[in-house]
Amino acid sequence: MSLSNILSKSEWLVEEKGFNIQNLNVNETLFTVGNGYLGTRGSLEEGIKGELPGNFIAGIFDHYDSMVIDLVNTPLWTPVNIYISGYKLNMNSCKVLDSYRCLDMRKGLLYRRTRFEDPNGNISVYESVRFASFHNNHLCVIRFSLTPENYSGDVRIETAIEGEQYNLAETPYLVTGAKKKVFPIEEKWVKYAKARHMKHIKSEGSESNVYLEMKTLDTQHTLGFASELICENTEQEVENFVGFEFARQQLNLDAKKGQTYTFSKLTSIYTSRDVSADTVQSACIENLNQESSKGYPVILQEHIDTWNIKWDNSDCLITGDDDSAFALRFNIFQLLICAYEKDPKVNIGAKTLSGEGYRGHVFWDTEIFLLPFYIYTQPETAKSLLLYRYHTLEAAKENAKLNGYDGSQYPWEAADTGKECTPKWTPDMTERIWTGEEEIHITADVAYGILTYYFATGDIDFFLNYGAEILILTARFWSSRLEYNKDKDRYEMNKVIGPDEYHEHVNNSVFTNWMAKWNMEKTIDCCETIKIEHPTVWLKLSQKTKINDQEIIDWKNKLSKIYIPFNKEKKLIEQFEGYFELEETPIVEFDENDMPLYPKGIDDTNAKKTTLIKQPDIVMLMFILPDEFSDEIKKINYEFYEKRTMHKSSLSPSIYSIMGIEINNTEHADQYFKRSAFVDLANNQGNTDMGIHAASCGGTWQCAVFGFGGFRLKQHKMTFKPWLPEKWVEVKFKLQWRSNQVEVAIQKAKAFFTLVSNDNNAKEEIIVFDKAYELKANKSLEVGY
Ligand code: BGC
Repeated sequence: MSLSNILSKSEWLVEEKGFNIQNLNVNETLFTVGNGYLGTRGSLEEGIKGELPGNFIAGIFDHYDSMVIDLVNTPLWTPVNIYISGYKLNMNSCKVLDSYRCLDMRKGLLYRRTRFEDPNGNISVYESVRFASFHNNHLCVIRFSLTPENYSGDVRIETAIEGEQYNLAETPYLVTGAKKKVFPIEEKWVKYAKARHMKHIKSEGSESNVYLEMKTLDTQHTLGFASELICENTEQEVENFVGFEFARQQLNLDAKKGQTYTFSKLTSIYTSRDVSADTVQSACIENLNQESSKGYPVILQEHIDTWNIKWDNSDCLITGDDDSAFALRFNIFQLLICAYEKDPKVNIGAKTLSGEGYRGHVFWDTEIFLLPFYIYTQPETAKSLLLYRYHTLEAAKENAKLNGYDGSQYPWEAADTGKECTPKWTPDMTERIWTGEEEIHITADVAYGILTYYFATGDIDFFLNYGAEILILTARFWSSRLEYNKDKDRYEMNKVIGPDEYHEHVNNSVFTNWMAKWNMEKTIDCCETIKIEHPTVWLKLSQKTKINDQEIIDWKNKLSKIYIPFNKEKKLIEQFEGYFELEETPIVEFDENDMPLYPKGIDDTNAKKTTLIKQPDIVMLMFILPDEFSDEIKKINYEFYEKRTMHKSSLSPSIYSIMGIEINNTEHADQYFKRSAFVDLANNQGNTDMGIHAASCGGTWQCAVFGFGGFRLKQHKMTFKPWLPEKWVEVKFKLQWRSNQVEVAIQKAKAFFTLVSNDNNAKEEIIVFDKAYELKANKSLEVGY
């Protein structure tokens, strides 16, 4: 029976029909399987020239041979090599008669069927199903089969853990302005220098399995991989071969024409981040033995059952526009495979666990783009992501101290320790990167994440035990970062970079100043509440952080004098001081996707002299703080800045879609949504080979739920102001709200809301188009508009 019989309906499948080498690296990213603990790119099991395989384990970083710390490309568990009369099946030298691959998003499976004709004229059908178990995060599985179509003869099956893996010393297209290198795909990566991060510790074989252990060079993490090849319908003996940086198993078959031989390869993975270094091996072997005694059908079923639960809470179903529905699910799938709620010391890199782009580093992307999805669909994961910031609070304190400030300053790019790890130069050392020093708004973004989580979940334990301390230390940072301008009797912040990264060293970025002010204001409110309502917590907090009344008074005084550049007459917020004096170079041309093209003579190296911006900045601010701006200000500023936005970051279109809907300018809402939803599926930023654009996945979900679904948290209340594109009939999603869940179905002229609760007396107020309604437990409410 074909291994494809378990696949979901086609609406859940990301398909590759036929094989085109030009799509190799992009599809490796798109076909990543993962479970938050690890992510494995969809490279072919047998390897191919030009491939960029990767297996990334959350939290395993190493600096050794690279410019800045890397998320380590760890040993590969995927290799399967098949030799027909000594000839290895591979896409380079065999004829590929048929090729089909698909990612089953519903079940988290990567399926493949390839018909090879080798140079001897032997035709073989190879099928495989691969997954990183969602049920047991330390288990990876490949089930594969071989059918000799027109021959009988010698077949050798070999499975391996390959430890000889490197990171790219320089990742292409890393920063704005970096020159893209163009090579034929087969030669592409060999031209890039490699960074070494692991050394071999041991390879061992036992009766049923093999074990490979590697260690990262300067972080000294032990990485263990135990693997077992199981034959399903042959009695052949499996032999072990172990050596430097590999551990392999193999068997020989006297294969019969027309018969299908099926195997499973189970791999169990642990590191010294999970258990002590000296027990990594036993943890791997124990887990492997346990799983192998369950057998493949049980392993698969447990994996699928866990996926069912995840999808049940997370799905967002669009009816009426199948392409959008499909793309949205792809983005949600990516969000589900990159987060690991069981480990509060890891976070999500800008390219998830699917590629080396941005070296696995964590940005504001987490709090602003990703967190809302987790808050409203799986709050435990959101909490875990925020605890990472708590665990790196000390490092943030050191960052602040190093830069001459008080409190805690979060790094623009973070990895394992929470120290600043933004590279200072582009890989070719020609351009200085200033974001590490200047893109300081990240500190307020973290505070924003803490409060958004708290407001939506009501998780008071988290707030009192972790969140409040982060708020105090971040507010303290801002207070020391503010610069007093005596002549103007105001507080300023000079030499910063706002979300629009085209303009560096700017003074008084409104996004930065406003968020700093908000961070301080909210912290004062929280301190005052805790003092009154939780006096013992306050005592502990004030002892730990040394906060006192005088400091709070001092913050209040500074707050009221933070400078916000604003043109009162035009009601326009000036993105930063002097922005309005920059050259106006209107965008007049658009590409085939209707995305702006640079005006003549402008590119990302000189856009700084113009009012063009890379991504939303003021519009971003109005999006995340909806209560702080009037509808009129939102509209005027949206219309001004939209015309000047180049959308050169994948973070950009989703926000313009949502804010367009908010101000009733829906002309481009659907187009922006699609731009965001297809960033990776259509590779529309041109760098999907380096990994999935995590923030864009989160932005896409926000677009569906906050934009079209119209849901926003305003004045701490659930408010809805939906709008659907012409083709859409309905969008349906669930929101976790405090201890209940709200099921929402939005249609063009009406919406349905159900408060799902274990408590039959539960009630919740929602606001739909400015009118209040009461939701009663487990009853559906229909609202027309
Ligand atoms: C964007 C940043 C973002 C980073 C990582 C940059 O291109 O401008 O806002 O944090 O990518 O996704």
